[in-house]
Amino acid sequence: MDVAPSATNAEPLSADEIVALSKQYTLYEWVAQNVADPIAVATAKGSYFYTADGRRFLDFNSQSMSVNIGHGDQRVIDAIAGQAQRLAFASPFLAHEPRARLGRKLAELTPGDLDVAFFTNGGADANENAIKLARQFTGRHKVLARYRSYHGATGVAIAATGDPRRWAGEAGVSGIVRAPDAHKWGRPEPEPADRALADLEEVIMYEGGHTIAAFILEPVVGANGILIPADGYLQGVREICDRHGILLIADEVMTGFGRTGRWFAVEHWGVVPDLLTMAKGLTSSYIPFGAVAMRQHIADAFRERAYVGGLTYNSHPMGCAAALAVIEVIEQDGLVERSARMGEVMRSHHEGLMARHPSVGGHRNLGLFGVLDLVRDRRTHEPMAPFDGTSEEMQAIHRHFREHGLYAFLRYNMIHTNPPLTISEEELAEGFDIIDAALALADAGVRG
Ligand code: PLP
Repeated sequence: MDVAPSATNAEPLSADEIVALSKQYTLYEWVAQNVADPIAVATAKGSYFYTADGRRFLDFNSQSMSVNIGHGDQRVIDAIAGQAQRLAFASPFLAHEPRARLGRKLAELTPGDLDVAFFTNGGADANENAIKLARQFTGRHKVLARYRSYHGATGVAIAATGDPRRWAGEAGVSGIVRAPDAHKWGRPEPEPADRALADLEEVIMYEGGHTIAAFILEPVVGANGILIPADGYLQGVREICDRHGILLIADEVMTGFGRTGRWFAVEHWGVVPDLLTMAKGLTSSYIPFGAVAMRQHIADAFRERAYVGGLTYNSHPMGCAAALAVIEVIEQDGLVERSARMGEVMRSHHEGLMARHPSVGGHRNLGLFGVLDLVRDRRTHEPMAPFDGTSEEMQAIHRHFREHGLYAFLRYNMIHTNPPLTISEEELAEGFDIIDAALALADAGVRG
């Protein structure tokens, strides 16, 4: 492939130098520095990225479940470059064309009357601002959030997060109340909707519904296992929230922009949340950017009084321009429909793997948002690795992927399958062939 010239005139660094300097002078997130083992990526196009020493990786995680339109789309690159030429930055107190156009476009795309947006730098601060908006709108403080969730690494967002990334960061943030999970750890299926909703009602009764500002949830849980709720669950949550005046915040940072085969995952259940947060797919990560969309009556509450919140980079012109270009690509290329269609192809690969490998205890996907659960025993669904842990088998799979040029997200006992929405059938088959071979390593860990 053609490689664009480097931004500097310096001699290019070797892959080893890139890794060594990155590790010496920058801090890697979520892992001990001695464990961090980054790949020296140099360029990317379509479903693949290429390393500085010439290796090719099939990107089966769209980097961070985020490069929905695939890598290196020239239409988006040109839009970003054009915006940089015209106006690289403007204070959030000004108005500009990309902001005006993107606000209107999102009002069109989002369900119901989610017609006003507040733009942020990414997903965590979209959730911070959604919670702040809910608190200022309701005058209440408590926020319901589930264990099997990730909402971002900043103050309130990490406190709302339920997964173990919260443990080191939660002290001192008040007001988060844990809501029951609709899908329990170590189970192949979600809870039946009526049981999950009854559990939720009970927590709200104990807490006092009138003291709760919001319930934040991922409509389909992402990094905690592609957990698709039972039909009726989200509609039931909507009804319970309405009854208590609790605002429903749908965190669609990962699920938005076609990932699940709809523009937004809530559309699968016909639910309109009060606030909807987005990032990742909004710009396909070409520029860091996020947004909170709010229903009209919430925006109206801030006509006479200020929304007390802000960011230097709110409505950044480069972010707005990138988002507009990405949305146009999704529309022009029919990527939402493509995600739904290719999701069927993904399901048949999942089914084939489950038929061939006793270590595959379950699989789920909605559009191109997918996961395989690896188990030691299908009858008990005993996971191939413990919660917040790993195992020899999962490590061996990780090494196999690395050696065979597959970039996929492994967590606990799960293999996520979240490629760009542009992936072809052949590329999808290539990725699943590598997974197929790797699963022999997991089959060896099956009991009996
Ligand atoms: N919400 C969800 C559902 C996410 O998956 C993520 C990131 O993975 C976030 C929020 C945080 O987004 P960011 O990393 O852009 O702050």
